[in-house]
Amino acid sequence: MSESTRTRTDGGALPVVAILTCGGTISSNVVNGVVTPRLGAEALVESVPALARYATLDAHTVMTKPSPDVTLSDVLGLYDELLERSRAGVDGLVVTHGTDTLEEVAFALDLLWDEETPVVVTGAMRQSDAVGADGAANLLAAVQTAGAAESRGRGILVVFNDEIHSPWHVRKSHTSSTATFRSPTLGPIGYLAEGRPRLPLTSSRPVRLARPRSMDPAPRVPIVTMSIGDDGRVMDALASAELDGLVLAGFGGGHLPGEVARSRGLQQLLERVPVVLTSRAGAGEPLTATYSGFDGSETALLGRGLITSGPLDGPRSKVLLSWLLAGRATRPEIDATFAAAVRG
Ligand code: ASP
Repeated sequence: MSESTRTRTDGGALPVVAILTCGGTISSNVVNGVVTPRLGAEALVESVPALARYATLDAHTVMTKPSPDVTLSDVLGLYDELLERSRAGVDGLVVTHGTDTLEEVAFALDLLWDEETPVVVTGAMRQSDAVGADGAANLLAAVQTAGAAESRGRGILVVFNDEIHSPWHVRKSHTSSTATFRSPTLGPIGYLAEGRPRLPLTSSRPVRLARPRSMDPAPRVPIVTMSIGDDGRVMDALASAELDGLVLAGFGGGHLPGEVARSRGLQQLLERVPVVLTSRAGAGEPLTATYSGFDGSETALLGRGLITSGPLDGPRSKVLLSWLLAGRATRPEIDATFAAAVRG
């Protein structure tokens, strides 16, 4: 247990909030001139004394990783730690995480989370000893949100820069801005006002999965983004690789160059593994019934068995497909789950 205070200034009991730290910039400071993730949970919580005014805190270091190194196997371990504390009766849970893969981790947790206890994921763009470090404010806002009754039953929430986002939509949109997390299609579902979370909108959570028993071995699901002039050779190379699934991020409404669409490699992949079609556009969802008359049109591709991603971008499509494959889902179950995501 780190710092605890049992009474609020208004006399009410404080919520109990567990903070689980996973590394990233919020847990970093400068060592020998470079930013390094090294702060554990105790140090992070002690660096923000204001937290104790809002919650009785329980701080745990889960890992101290740069988030590009985080795997879905790590997420399963994190899920177990969260579940244990939720079942022990905490009022709210906060995860601090590197921003590079924060959106995948929040979404992956949301697909599994079936508890009423809120889980708030946050991070920072500036290391803890930087001028104007944003981690302290983000952690405070996350604790305020996790401890609030109105956050219950909403699954995972991403809190950053005093905004509250759905893990189904939020993405890191800028390499260095402290306002990097945006939900391009939807916008934030809430915000903090004077330290109080406001959640006027609810984003649906159309898919809930059983926890896969193991991610060992992790399914191999690359994301391939189309660009001008691509031909079939990439698909031919992928067809001879050991893949369990594939996500194709097509142009605009979900279109591929004709040479890619006609390639022998794509046909072989379609016969062997689930192939999800999403868009590289960054907002909206791929079309399903607008264009035809060319081989890379969405109608031609969906007619050949590609699976439309609906609102899921490439990283989220990969997470959903990976959980399904790890859970040994059949092809009809995979199709039905993506269809549920599309219906929203
Ligand atoms: N730049 C990253 C961050 O903001 C590093 C990471 O994701 O670990 O946390």
